[in-house]
Amino acid sequence: MSIAQNLINIKKNLPEGVTLVAVSKTKPVSDLRQAYDAGQRIFGENKIQEMAEKWEQMPKDIEWHMIGHVQTNKVKYMAPFVQLIHGVDSLKLLEEINKQAQKNSRVIDCLLQIYIAEEESKFGLDEIEVENLLQSTSFKQMDNIRIVGLMGMATFTDNHNQIKKEFTHLKSIFDNLQKLETNNCQLNTISMGMSGDYPLAIECGSTLVRIGSSIFGGR
Ligand SMILES: *Cc1c(COP(=O)(O)O)cnc(C)c1O
Repeated sequence: MSIAQNLINIKKNLPEGVTLVAVSKTKPVSDLRQAYDAGQRIFGENKIQEMAEKWEQMPKDIEWHMIGHVQTNKVKYMAPFVQLIHGVDSLKLLEEINKQAQKNSRVIDCLLQIYIAEEESKFGLDEIEVENLLQSTSFKQMDNIRIVGLMGMATFTDNHNQIKKEFTHLKSIFDNLQKLETNNCQLNTISMGMSGDYPLAIECGSTLVRIGSSIFGGR
């Protein structure tokens, strides 16, 4: 099926209030063009350099989301244009994003990545670490970033109940953190769900799904 048809099929099943990030990592600009021509305006990439190259070549009304693990020394390459950084997992990284956002006279929206999976390889913070981060003096002084929500990745497994438990855990952390809202922390976004598990993620409260292979085909 075509990229355009895949997009139509996915979008007709998304409830109101759930936004689609088309994950285009490793795919050529010609594929992104097809999605763009079908009306898609939010794209997700997991490598900063690849995202910057595609940003240069694609129309400028696209929102670019960084969904991968971010290396501090590369933040500067996306600071001029990135719309949302999903994978923020340390105060040190936030400090660099704040600094680069300031240089570009921008406020950059970020999600804190929460560790919900039972896998060693997944990045992220736990609930206590997030609370400490949001309450720290250094965070409160960052005027050029805004934490708008949380992101999580479930364990790669066929076990429906386990995935559901992990997504539900993320949603409950999100609900508990509402009490910590400040000027630069306004929680309204839960980024969870990929091609294999997004219907379940939506059931569990996701507001932003990151879908790659079901749109663009396998990688
Ligand atoms: C690649 C990737 C996705 C999309 O995965 P698909 O299974 O192709 O939908 C979503 N989120 C993150 C963080 C990714 O790296």
